Amino acid sequence: MSDFFKNPFMAFSAGFGLGPIPLGFARKTLYPPVERYPNERVKFAPYGLRKVETILLENGFNESEVAVVHPENLEKFIGSNTKVVGISSMDPTGMGYVSKTYSSIIGGGEPMNAVEFHKLVLNPAIQKFKPKIIVGGFGAWQLERKQMTDKYGIDSVLIGGRPETINKAFSNAVIGDKNPRVIIDDDSLPDWDYSTMPTCKHAAIHGAVEISKGCGRNCQFCTPTVQHKVDIPLEKIIQEVDMTVQEGSDQITLVTEDLFLYGAKDARFIPNIKAVTKLVKSVATRPGVKGIQASHISLAPAVYAPQMIKDLAEILIEHSWYSFGGKDIITAETGIETGSSRLMKKYMAGKMLPFKPEQWQEIVTNAFGILNDNNWCPLATLIVGLPDEKEEDVLQTLELMDKLKGYKAFYVPLFFVPLENCVLMNNKGAELDSLSKVRWEFFIRCWEYNIRLWKPTFLENRIKNPILYKAVNNVLIPYFSAIMGFYYGFTRGKQLKEAFWSLGITQRS
Ligand code: SF4
Repeated sequence: MSDFFKNPFMAFSAGFGLGPIPLGFARKTLYPPVERYPNERVKFAPYGLRKVETILLENGFNESEVAVVHPENLEKFIGSNTKVVGISSMDPTGMGYVSKTYSSIIGGGEPMNAVEFHKLVLNPAIQKFKPKIIVGGFGAWQLERKQMTDKYGIDSVLIGGRPETINKAFSNAVIGDKNPRVIIDDDSLPDWDYSTMPTCKHAAIHGAVEISKGCGRNCQFCTPTVQHKVDIPLEKIIQEVDMTVQEGSDQITLVTEDLFLYGAKDARFIPNIKAVTKLVKSVATRPGVKGIQASHISLAPAVYAPQMIKDLAEILIEHSWYSFGGKDIITAETGIETGSSRLMKKYMAGKMLPFKPEQWQEIVTNAFGILNDNNWCPLATLIVGLPDEKEEDVLQTLELMDKLKGYKAFYVPLFFVPLENCVLMNNKGAELDSLSKVRWEFFIRCWEYNIRLWKPTFLENRIKNPILYKAVNNVLIPYFSAIMGFYYGFTRGKQLKEAFWSLGITQRS
């Protein structure tokens, strides 16, 4: 439960392996606890926990009965009267995309997310007073898949997200009624409109405010795709923004699968320019809002409506959180996934609508051009090891990467992971040890681009002394890569060794 030094993208590092790093050092330098009030309740919490808190407060519980606290402070809150502890986790056992890909490359061993989850469920206060444990959040399914629910002494895994389901689960636990081991939404409940979900009563980390849920583009490796897109009404968004500012955050994260499609109803995913612009303007003009960050965007709307990108940029650049080469930039996460039109057609035929799968490379490069021209630098994910991926598909992705050489972006290559509830969930995930030469080449290419583009900005923001800057830039980083190359050569084999050698050489040249 950290704001990662107010940097949402740094939260990816929780998927890295802890390796030989002492836990206390990682907690201090990577994910310090969120701010707390004098009564030790947290000022900012994960968004999902805030929703659960709100549901309970709206259903008969009061503020003295429900406390949202940092794991570090559990012992001050759990006692003989504590009936239930709710835990939210994105990645409790390290089966998420970033953990699967990077835990053994960076740090090694169990990812920090999993290490911390383990520590949390084994907290001495939980062991002593034995309240009921309910685990929810985006990664809760992992506990069942890995058969860890019983091993960790967890009473129930909450997969359902409806207010009635959440309220019933906690109410049962409080009165001593047994909950099922896996709690899901009851099929017999009448249809429900997600946009009626109550607005949070207290602020979330990074000023998170949900503006839409679900996607509907049908990418088969993805879970938001199984949910129809629902837009949260603007009045409710503004209400949550105002509450967040009042509780001390001047930065707002717009949580969405695609900012550009807010308010869009068209079956071909044509953006509703008026609705998006009105949303961003309305948030930007709320008193006290200084920073705005959208979580995700898709690329096709940028090509379809370049003027919208320009109009949004004019507002968002005034509320920028990040800089590149000393200039403010706008960013958001987006998915390139692959350069192969065959795989796009097979698994992601909706991702580029209203365009065609065969146009994917062109859409990506055009969108990057339009975004860069308007000060947007996207963070783009790419997937290696999709089921039935052939060498030709990876070569096409390499070809796309070549075309992207001159653009400003940050690339995150990831291994395919069969997430629960996605169409491809019964397929095998990609593994580090079985990557072919061409897949490693692709992996290295992404990081070469990142290092070339972002190293100067990264160092300039941290090292002000010019002599120290030169020493770190010209000597420490390249030689560190070479040393890592030797280390991996001995411990993990030839390909990782070559990867680090290659990155070291790139930096020296
Ligand atoms: S566009 Fe993104 S969020 Fe939507 S289904 Fe595809 S991967 Fe998922």
